[in-house]
Amino acid sequence: MFEDIAAKLTEIRARIEAATQMAGRAPGSAQLVAVSKTNPVGAVEAALAAGQRLFGENRVQEAAGKFPGLRAAWPDLRLHIIGPLQTNKVRDAVRLADVIETLDRPKLALALAEAIQKEGRRPALLIQVNTGNEPQKAGILPAEADAFIRQCLTEYALPVTGLMCIPPAEEDPGPHFTLLAQLANQHGLQTLSMGMSGDFETAIRHGATHVRVGSAIFGARAPA
Ligand SMILES: *Cc1c(COP(=O)(O)O)cnc(C)c1O
Repeated sequence: MFEDIAAKLTEIRARIEAATQMAGRAPGSAQLVAVSKTNPVGAVEAALAAGQRLFGENRVQEAAGKFPGLRAAWPDLRLHIIGPLQTNKVRDAVRLADVIETLDRPKLALALAEAIQKEGRRPALLIQVNTGNEPQKAGILPAEADAFIRQCLTEYALPVTGLMCIPPAEEDPGPHFTLLAQLANQHGLQTLSMGMSGDFETAIRHGATHVRVGSAIFGARAPA
């Protein structure tokens, strides 16, 4: 059932390295986050057996069901939370994740600061920017991003290491990736999580350090 996963991973890794080289970047400078949401534990195990260690899940509850057991068997596994985060899920997210990619509002910043202190665990944080100003999409608006990034770093002293975006589905993603890279650069932030199955090579050209690829590895998901 999961026999395609190893071959797909090999193919995606080769495409990532080719795009990295084409962009004149150092080998390995763009990392693959394998997005395993909606896929069963067996699919994650197939990816682990094929050498993948970095995974992304968009729901805390689903991640809590799948990953603690896997972590026991694969201690070098790393988990990124990549979906919108409710404040009542923050403590679970801090307990589970190595990176939380979706910090996008002051209330969440405060909740994360409290949870980090209470749990004694300090996952790295990325600020999600809604580069397309889409009303239905999570992320801080570009016009508010400067002030919010500064507030997270100084007022809340949060371990923010970079930025994340999901460009509008129907647009050329290039300008969105450019905007995110410029913002990160202005604030001296190193991590850029951008690019998915359909556009990760473009994202690498624009400086992505992490690409989040799901369906190209695990197959098409059932519509949400
Ligand atoms: C599902 C998801 C992805 C992966 O999308 P694919 O198109 O399947 O590669 C990437 N990022 C986020 C935030 C997601 O929710």
